[in-house]
Amino acid sequence: MAADLVVKGGKLVTPEGIIEAGIAIKDGKIMNIAKETGLPEAQRLIRVDGRLVMPGVIDAHSHIHDPDYTYREDFESGSKAAAAGGVTMLIDMPLVLTVLSDMIERKKEEGERLSVVDFSFHAGMMRPEYIGEIPKVVALGVKSFKLFTTQPFKVGWKGVKEIVQAVTKSQGITVVHAEDDSIVSEWVKKVRDEEGRKDVLAHFDSRPAEAEGEAIRRLIHISEETGGHIHIAHMTTTVGTVLVRDAKERGISITAETCPQYLVFTRDDAEKQGPYLKMTPPLRTRDDVISLWRGLADGTIDMVVTDHAPGTREEKEVGWEDIWKAWGGIPGVETLLPIMLSEGVNKGRITPMRLVEAMCRRPAEVFGLYPRKGALKEGSDGDLVIVDMKREVTIRAENLHYKVGWTPYEGMKVVGFPEITVIRGEVVAEGGAILKKPGYGKFVEMT
Ligand code: ZN
Ligand code: ZN
Repeated sequence: MAADLVVKGGKLVTPEGIIEAGIAIKDGKIMNIAKETGLPEAQRLIRVDGRLVMPGVIDAHSHIHDPDYTYREDFESGSKAAAAGGVTMLIDMPLVLTVLSDMIERKKEEGERLSVVDFSFHAGMMRPEYIGEIPKVVALGVKSFKLFTTQPFKVGWKGVKEIVQAVTKSQGITVVHAEDDSIVSEWVKKVRDEEGRKDVLAHFDSRPAEAEGEAIRRLIHISEETGGHIHIAHMTTTVGTVLVRDAKERGISITAETCPQYLVFTRDDAEKQGPYLKMTPPLRTRDDVISLWRGLADGTIDMVVTDHAPGTREEKEVGWEDIWKAWGGIPGVETLLPIMLSEGVNKGRITPMRLVEAMCRRPAEVFGLYPRKGALKEGSDGDLVIVDMKREVTIRAENLHYKVGWTPYEGMKVVGFPEITVIRGEVVAEGGAILKKPGYGKFVEMT
């Protein structure tokens, strides 16, 4: 039986290790992984000469902004950026307070019309009054529920516990933006209202690491009490990493993610780039960066995601005058894999196996997509990225697919770059060009 696509001559990163082998895909699924002689004939053959072949990257936290703020990004631009960067699946996160199941249905329609990569959703923002919606959302194939412990979508600690209990009853997972609101409010009051600061570091100085530490401490306690699985969104600090490591050792059902921006930038960069590096939580110190890399290497931090949340130049520029007015978020989905290859693998901070765990396997396992997604193994979807570990590229916004036309990584040199992105056996991106039409991407149910 002939395959649709065969990739030969690569180093495959499989769950069992890195092997020199070929891979055959038929009807969208991986049919065979074998030495060259054991592979079937194929409609299309790609020879990759010793390049790394890894599963498609899953960005488990990205704000595509569709359908509410499409001037920033929509499913077409966001998914093209994803595909060009080796991301084969996005889990979109809402940024509006809304009724959950209606929103998922609207977003799903937009994704099916416009996305070139596969996708799923986090439901939210969760509030106690939406608890009744949980079974309806689960019936739509979405089992992840997002909540904030701070403004603008704050849920109080009692409400957090009720939501975690209800989500757990429906076999779901609760994703939390973890900053303690009482600490944040106190500091915002001091920095903004009492000191009257508007400079580019005022936002940074108003959200101390301890706000994250305190929220994570409480969330661990809630997970311990309820048995519910809580996932910490965009963890940024040493204190958070230490708490999560300890909780995992005690068998508590906590997982955590961080983002490339928190692994690369610090306060110095926030000072230089000003509002362009305004995000929440803010960038941290060099010490935090070191802790996050350690946590990523030892598995304390399960995964790396982007928190892709672009704002326009205009929405950023206003922050030079008054940082509180600037949009808090950055684009990141297209640079995710290049930065992790360069700063992580090529600088020896993480192994290629660990990279694949953190960017493919763990996001799939945590969000109910495994083994359909997240691994090179027979029967899984034929989603893969062919990577040249030696290729040097200088990141330029003009070469990226974002609507907003800027990147905080402008001018950064990376070593290691994705060349070809395959989704369900079809080449979707090659050398930065997008080869599939909007609508190729499919909604994937969480199980
Ligand atoms: Zn957040
Ligand atoms: Zn986010």
